[in-house]
Amino acid sequence: MEKIKTLRGFRDISGEELEKFRRIEAVVRKYLQLLNFTEIELPILEKTELFVRSIGDTTDIVEKEMFTFRDIGGDSLTMRPEATAGMVRAYLQAGMYATERVSKLFTIGPMFRHEKPQKGRFREFRQIDVEVFGIDDPLIDAELLWMIHVILKELRVNNYEIEVNSVGCPGCRESFRKVLVEYFVGKKEMLCDDCVRRLDRNPLRIFDCKNSECIEVSVGSPLLFEYLCGDCRHHFDEFQGHVDSFGFPVKINKRLVRGLDYYTRTVFEVTSNDLGAQKAFMAGGRYDNLVEAMGGPKTPGTGFAIGVERLALITMREQVLTVPTYFFAYLGERAKTYLIPFIKSFVEAGLSLNYSYDGRSLKSQMRYADSRNADFVFILGDDEVDKGIIILRNMKTKVQYELLLDPSTLPREAVKLSVE
Ligand SMILES: [Zn+2]
Ligand SMILES: [Zn+2]
Repeated sequence: MEKIKTLRGFRDISGEELEKFRRIEAVVRKYLQLLNFTEIELPILEKTELFVRSIGDTTDIVEKEMFTFRDIGGDSLTMRPEATAGMVRAYLQAGMYATERVSKLFTIGPMFRHEKPQKGRFREFRQIDVEVFGIDDPLIDAELLWMIHVILKELRVNNYEIEVNSVGCPGCRESFRKVLVEYFVGKKEMLCDDCVRRLDRNPLRIFDCKNSECIEVSVGSPLLFEYLCGDCRHHFDEFQGHVDSFGFPVKINKRLVRGLDYYTRTVFEVTSNDLGAQKAFMAGGRYDNLVEAMGGPKTPGTGFAIGVERLALITMREQVLTVPTYFFAYLGERAKTYLIPFIKSFVEAGLSLNYSYDGRSLKSQMRYADSRNADFVFILGDDEVDKGIIILRNMKTKVQYELLLDPSTLPREAVKLSVE
């Protein structure tokens, strides 16, 4: 019979990659908790309308990349393509704006986009999503970026750059829109069909286009950064002052626009040249009008998402565990009766013990111990049981010790020999 496989762009994750995921998430959680963030779990499935309204109906995500379907009842549902929309929904649904001035939230989990799978990009991918509601002060934007900087240091990611820009407010964008349309209208023939359409509806989207001719046309265009209103300019200057106080490097990239409609003022991306052409692994920014657009009170917001798969690609595996690992090799039925006492005493002592279940030849058990990277192997056969002893072999030095066959004292004895 033909075997069933995963869907394209979906996969099973284990081993070293999953270890890295866990480590990344542990480091991120640590700093988020130190900085007073609260974790929240959100549904994967939401009403399609939630994403259309928050992300914007002219974006690539909504137009081409969502897993959307009708359920049995005929409602249009979507597997979340990103987490901010759900966060805003949850914030409003719980009425957090009424009970707390500031809400600092984060969530970790899978997102879904129907994109062409490529290196480090999948249709199901993991994100760490961080959102802050209720703070207008650009101090929080600087704080979020500083936290990312610290997290990357701890993960020993060195080759990265934090790029920042301001995309202004609807006011700035309205006046800039005219400038932009004027520029692109004369170059219409060089734009792709999508961008010609964008020219009418949302010309800023042209900067997101991945088409090489559109990118070429965009290069010479005027920049929104140069057309910021006084308030937006001031907000960005203050932001830069806070970044200086925290003391970490950022690079202003005036061409940086995020792919979603809801961003205002400070936006950012963290990139690494180790990732190739699509080099961003973290992105976010401020969205001061989104909560209101979703039916809530006027509430400033800011946040970011980390692509866990992408970050894992440039994260070193954690340094060798300092705790040694043990293996129990046994031969014969009498020796096997010691297996359960061994498992109990080692696990209760907090030590990692491995073993086989079938007690085949000593040679095959030693080979198995090696493949599991055991530091020490206990060897027990009939002879040793008769003498009331057990052999402990250091797999690196090949030195062997004879110890008393007493599972209750062996963990302690073994640790003593491991530190020598
Ligand atoms: Zn403005
Ligand atoms: Zn285009």
